[in-house]
Amino acid sequence: MTIEKLKHDFPHTIIKENEPLSSYTYTRTGGPADALIFPKRKEEVQALIKWLTKEDWPVTILGNASNLIVKDGGIRGATIILTEMNQITIKDNVITALTGAPLIEVSKRAYSASLTGLEFACGIPGSIGGAVYMNAGAYGGEVKEVIEKVTVLTREGDIVERTNEEMAFTYRHSKLQESDDIALEVTFVLKEGKKEEIKEKMDELTFLRTSKQPLEYPSCGSVFKRPTGYFTGKLIQDAGLQGLVWGGAQISTKHAGFIVNINNATATDYIELIEHIKEVIYKENGVELETEVKIIGEDLTPEATGGSTLLNKAKESLTPKFSQISLAKEN
Ligand SMILES: Cc1cc2nc3c(=O)[nH]c(=O)nc-3n(C[C@H](O)[C@H](O)[C@H](O)COP(=O)(O)OP(=O)(O)OC[C@H]3O[C@@H](n4cnc5c(N)ncnc54)[C@H](O)[C@@H]3O)c2cc1C
Repeated sequence: MTIEKLKHDFPHTIIKENEPLSSYTYTRTGGPADALIFPKRKEEVQALIKWLTKEDWPVTILGNASNLIVKDGGIRGATIILTEMNQITIKDNVITALTGAPLIEVSKRAYSASLTGLEFACGIPGSIGGAVYMNAGAYGGEVKEVIEKVTVLTREGDIVERTNEEMAFTYRHSKLQESDDIALEVTFVLKEGKKEEIKEKMDELTFLRTSKQPLEYPSCGSVFKRPTGYFTGKLIQDAGLQGLVWGGAQISTKHAGFIVNINNATATDYIELIEHIKEVIYKENGVELETEVKIIGEDLTPEATGGSTLLNKAKESLTPKFSQISLAKEN
């Protein structure tokens, strides 16, 4: 199991060795991928999966890395990033997009073709595949409402089509989260609309997003799923946590549901802050917050950190975990 053999057998595929994932993630954190692989075609992904399975390599799939925290130790084995698979085609009211196409771009192309139904997605920074995996949504819309079918690659290496029903979409969830299938292509069916009305809706949603979300900082969007009967941001605000800084990460002063990277944060800063928020909210409200963001990869080894994460330091000094942390303002 060597990267040389992989490179030898896939001479036309871009494969980067020991590549820092912080250059790809929206939080700008995360350790290196042993092998970061950039396929361009569906059949290439299929051949890669068959090869990697046969060689017993662990495989991780990345889209636009906008809903991920990759731990500081990085990802072992093969990481397949699908962003080079980004072709979009439109025929009448049907849009077919390869998995790595940016959802924002698909939404824009729908507007250009006077097709309505994807206005809600005009500011969601994921790829099509990531949007399917998460059933991404905003402002009352979800991708499940406009998806007709998804072409997937099973981990056995077969390319098959799944209907919308077979994807079992629910809130921020799809069948992909259990099946481990890889989305390769998505077919959207939209309705004909009026261009000026589509634009008006997109402008309105863009205004709402830019005025409410801390888009000027790296982040992974809403960290937590919305718990039934509550608003996460309000729970965090009411608990007095908004603005809290942990290492280089901060609970956004603009939107308490976001954690922003204000000063070279590590993934460990993010993860410890998330744990702290969960602990406080559970103690104060009995609400168990569930992360929307996916946390993947490996911790840094104790040798690499010298055993000194911020959490360990706080424990060692026997001070309450956050007592000495200043509340910094973002701007
Ligand atoms: C500023 C900001 C605002 C955001 N606003 C919203 C919002 O309004 N609504 C919303 O729903 N989300 C929002 N998000 C989160 C994020 O953009 C979405 O969850 C998006 O759908 C993730 O897509 P991605 O390509 O970035 O996936 P990634 O982060 O790359 O991956 C997420 C998960 O999907 C899996 N995955 C990715 N591609 C595939 C594939 N092709 N096949 C199988 N599995 C795959 C990965 O393995 C991983 O487990 C926001 C994020 C940011 C940073």
